Amino acid sequence: MIVTRFAPSPTGRLHLGHAYSAILNHDRARAEGGRFVLRIEDIDASRCRPAFEDAIYEDLSWLGLAWDGPVLRQSERMDAYAERLGSLRAHGLAYRCFRTRADVAEAMSAAHGAPEGGFRPGPLPPREEAALLAEGHPYAWRLDLARAQAEAGPIAYEEETPQGRRVVAADPAPHGDIVIARKDVGTSYHLASVTDDVASGVSHVIRGEDLREAAPLHALLYALLGEAPPVYAHHPLIAGPDGRRLAKRDRSVTLAALREAGKTSESVRARLPL
Ligand code: GLU
Repeated sequence: MIVTRFAPSPTGRLHLGHAYSAILNHDRARAEGGRFVLRIEDIDASRCRPAFEDAIYEDLSWLGLAWDGPVLRQSERMDAYAERLGSLRAHGLAYRCFRTRADVAEAMSAAHGAPEGGFRPGPLPPREEAALLAEGHPYAWRLDLARAQAEAGPIAYEEETPQGRRVVAADPAPHGDIVIARKDVGTSYHLASVTDDVASGVSHVIRGEDLREAAPLHALLYALLGEAPPVYAHHPLIAGPDGRRLAKRDRSVTLAALREAGKTSESVRARLPL
């Protein structure tokens, strides 16, 4: 059975771009007698607001989009993410990283250019690590990409495009050793998203083109969890009045603003390339 999902972060009001994603996922599930699930991506407590979460429910209802089953809130799933992290650690695929944002930025903008294959600081020598731990320095967990790829072997996933389905050989190498658990949050978008897509049985991940580059990495995380990846599809981003992609700061095209201006959900659908 087809299972799609909409996974907004409650860090601002939903705009036309979100509506596009939500409608594509909803309509696809309904057309094929499947399930459409809603997930609130609220792992970052410093940026998420309950009022924005309430607004998501209100906006989706206004659009006439009903979701199936209970809403999955990521802030309530920290144990599941910790378990995933634990299993990656147990397989020797994760290491502690004490670097600060400034360290990383410096490494990525070094005079000789950003390292090919992304940032891969590697684990510290055990004594150095022990000293930093003893001093109570905070750390993130990074995925050891080379080891992860060796463990998973070659990975492929299917992508639906306007020209049909194609098989993509996943190459997550450009991501480098991504952070799978942030210092402040204890997990990351990538780890939480894949953990939840697996838990919800999501079969088709339909999201914006800006996330196309995440698909190879997510397919790798699926493989490490012993799961087959979903089918991916990436839709064009909706441009704002200035021709640039919509951002949460573009207030005029939030669904709330359109609603207040007397627009209907039908007129929102009509504005989108459905
Ligand atoms: N919370 C992410 C966003 O709002 C969703 C990404 C995804 O669909 O995987 O951009």
